Amino acid sequence: MSSKPVRVRFAPSPTGYLHVGGARTALYNYLYAKKMGGKFILRIEDTDLERSTEEALRMQIADLKWLKLYWDEGPQSDNLEDKGDFGPYRQSQRKEIYQRYADQLLEEGYAYYCFMTDEEIDAQREELVKAGKPPQVQSPYRDLPMEEAKKRIEAGEKPVIRFRVGEKKDYTIQDMVRGEVVFPSDMVGDFVLIRSNGMPVYNFCCAIDDALMDITHVFRAEEHLSNTLRQLMIYEALGFWTPEFGHLSIILGADKQKLSKRHGATSCNEFRLRGYLPEALLNFIALLGWSDAQGREVMSMEELIQAFDPERLHQSSAVFDEQKLLWMNSVHLRNLSHDDLWNRLRVIFDKEGLKFSGDEEWVDRALDLFKTSMETLNDAIELFRPLSETKLKIEDSSLEVLSWESTPKVIGAWLEELKEREDKYLTEEDFGNIQNKIKDQVGVKGKHLFMPIRVAVIGKPQGAELKELVPLLKREVLIQRADEVLNR
Ligand code: GLU
Repeated sequence: MSSKPVRVRFAPSPTGYLHVGGARTALYNYLYAKKMGGKFILRIEDTDLERSTEEALRMQIADLKWLKLYWDEGPQSDNLEDKGDFGPYRQSQRKEIYQRYADQLLEEGYAYYCFMTDEEIDAQREELVKAGKPPQVQSPYRDLPMEEAKKRIEAGEKPVIRFRVGEKKDYTIQDMVRGEVVFPSDMVGDFVLIRSNGMPVYNFCCAIDDALMDITHVFRAEEHLSNTLRQLMIYEALGFWTPEFGHLSIILGADKQKLSKRHGATSCNEFRLRGYLPEALLNFIALLGWSDAQGREVMSMEELIQAFDPERLHQSSAVFDEQKLLWMNSVHLRNLSHDDLWNRLRVIFDKEGLKFSGDEEWVDRALDLFKTSMETLNDAIELFRPLSETKLKIEDSSLEVLSWESTPKVIGAWLEELKEREDKYLTEEDFGNIQNKIKDQVGVKGKHLFMPIRVAVIGKPQGAELKELVPLLKREVLIQRADEVLNR
């Protein structure tokens, strides 16, 4: 382990929303930085110009912010301007840096210009495969004198810059997740550093940036393990110090296949839209590939930071269990203060056009009533809808009840009772008394009593318990609704 101050990075390629796998990578890096008092850096790997977009970058940044995985250095969320001393933090703005190091490698003989065409490469590969050999490029330009290469470039040819893989030897890392990993150098052939259009490739940018940004530890997806060898070769050729690597286990869907869109929601944004809490999603993904030494499952961010230990990262793949996520969400939701929960719900209610003017005491009563029935924030929409002080919608399912002969009498009596009282809200007891009174007065019972009142309160004959809902509706709102139903 190094004694350098810890600097870790999350390095997304901005090609879409932040996926749960990416969020997990970001989280582990973040937790490690916080735990070690280090820095968490956001670096944008946007050299794939065809797939990277600024919109996707903004989406990823918004998702990271929603998760509260705030970064110490990197493009800032409001204007994408860099913060930190190691910038620029977007690879598309670092092309000159890569070119400088490519030139150095060319000069020192670690790289060469290669003029092979795609057709030549394909043909060569085919022959190698036919001969039962590994399909690694064997460039005829490996030993072309630099003078000649330069002449061809001056004449307008556009070569790639290829790394010259050296004598066969083993490269070894102590992976923080997998332990010792040995890469024989002949696993790769001479590989491209800079394409013929001048764009550097991922492995080259990544190695240079990790070195120049003083990254000490790299937690990243397992799929990058195979890139590590090329990066180690680049580090070595440039005389760079090598960071520690930790390649995280794969996340699988319930069917044990790599988690993908086929499995349903996989982006953080989808979970946000479905009413999941960021703290629950983070808690859940923290446990996909890591476990707490004390066996805790429900943990706050503070607890995760305290407990995070790379030694406990699992090598085996983790299964994304949506039922568990839902459970985790309901637990975190119930742990929120009413104030906090209400603030989050208000955003959703606003979008749904639901209006509530109750005071704090009202919010407490309503949340006490509904909180245990909620697994996600969105579950609140239908639970609270009947309480919204918007115009009552009388549903078609009420028509039959409204056609009963006794119905106007029942609703009329209900209205009278409401008008006679003075309190802002009825209690559950008031409501029971009123029902009994109407029963005697009008001479109806059972559904002929309950259903008309329900229609007068929520606009439909079926639904939530009235004795729970009525005390949460202002008396004046109940009057207004009963009036509306009577007069229709
Ligand atoms: N840009 C890479 C990705 O999005 C990350 C590479 C790395 O972490 O080294 O998968």
